[in-house]
Amino acid sequence: DPPAIDADFYDTSAKLSPEDRALQLKVRAFLEAEVKPIVNKYWLHDEFPFEIIPKLAELNVCGYVYEGYGCAGGTSLMDGIIASEFGRIDPSIATFLGVQSGLAMGSIYLCGSEEQKAEWLPAMQQLKKIGAFGLTEPLVGSGTAGGLTTTCKREGDTWILNGQKKWIGNSTFSDITIIWARDLDDQQVKGFIVRKENPGFAVEKIKGKMALRIVQNGLITLTDCEVPESDRLVNANSFKDTAKVLQMTRAGVAWMAVGCARGAYENALEYTLHREQFGKPIASFQLIQNHLVEMLSNLTAMQTLVFRLSELQDDDKLKDEHASLAKVFCTLRTRDIVSRAREVMGGNGILLEYNVARFLADAEAIYSYEGTKEINSLIVGRSITGYSAFV
Ligand code: FAD
Repeated sequence: DPPAIDADFYDTSAKLSPEDRALQLKVRAFLEAEVKPIVNKYWLHDEFPFEIIPKLAELNVCGYVYEGYGCAGGTSLMDGIIASEFGRIDPSIATFLGVQSGLAMGSIYLCGSEEQKAEWLPAMQQLKKIGAFGLTEPLVGSGTAGGLTTTCKREGDTWILNGQKKWIGNSTFSDITIIWARDLDDQQVKGFIVRKENPGFAVEKIKGKMALRIVQNGLITLTDCEVPESDRLVNANSFKDTAKVLQMTRAGVAWMAVGCARGAYENALEYTLHREQFGKPIASFQLIQNHLVEMLSNLTAMQTLVFRLSELQDDDKLKDEHASLAKVFCTLRTRDIVSRAREVMGGNGILLEYNVARFLADAEAIYSYEGTKEINSLIVGRSITGYSAFV
């Protein structure tokens, strides 16, 4: 009999406490029961399954790492494992949670005042309020660190924001979007909690994506958008503060990629064990086994790498270059794994119902967002050589 398919070849789960292992299995069972059966349909129709929001709230893993405000105050390691479990079933729902829990709540947690945290974090933890994170612009993607063109200007107790933000996940239905803008007075990047009802705020859905189709990405236009001073993130004083949020969320993306790769690999392995050609299961052919082993080798390297990444995070030793290296390595290897997974399945590899095509497509978006391979490589390159090669 072939062994059960649970691709944790070096048994990383053995390092978890019984409580953490139980949480991992609870999250997995939830995703298998509630998310897996519905995602292909929503992915195909380019729609978000709003029915999942109250169920996710009940699962109670949003804002898992934060202390207080109704959050669990858990470890980064478990936060990563949760992201990976989500990625294993559906990278879109994993991304929805990553934006809500990491980018949006993280900006408020790391850069907000006590009042702002108390107002938003408990409601966002419960998914009663949904958040988005607006950094990228139509003409400025990789170059956001020095080149934001969205501006803000203070007029009394009101800030006036102008510009556009592209690709903003969840923004078509979010209650708030964290908007990053350059102050016309001191030229520094500042962050704002922009409510959907703020005058001058408009969102248009980005249509026609071939990846992460469940994630609703918006093009935001800010036209003399008015934001009160009380909604400015008080501890966001330059792009360095934005980068603190990205350091945390890039680690999460690396974990999510591990999940995406694992989902594709497990589905492909299962398929090869049952699919027969020339009178034998295709898993018995040497060339198929070579693909499977290549996939598993990369997956195992990724799993052990992110495990150590989160230990550094939990020891407060995580640096930008650590998160960037993991993001590059895991998303690059994931691309290789999903394409091999699709390959060993022949034609069925491109059909949604066989549960690999979605991973194949979604891996492309994960590869590009939260800093491309080039940008994250340059962050690592700068740290190991001392030379910044961005421009
Ligand atoms: P560009 O910056 O135009 O890059 C094009 C190419 O040039 C890339 O290969 C890049 O690596 C390369 N390049 C650029 N500069 C250099 C350099 N100095 N050296 C070498 N190569 C270079 N953003 C948000 O703010 N919020 C979100 O919620 C969000 N969600 C997203 C969801 C999806 C599905 C996608 C696809 C994107 C999302 N993004 C979001 C935006 C994402 O972060 C950007 O797409 C990404 O940072 C790259 O920017 P760009 O697409 O403008 O590419």
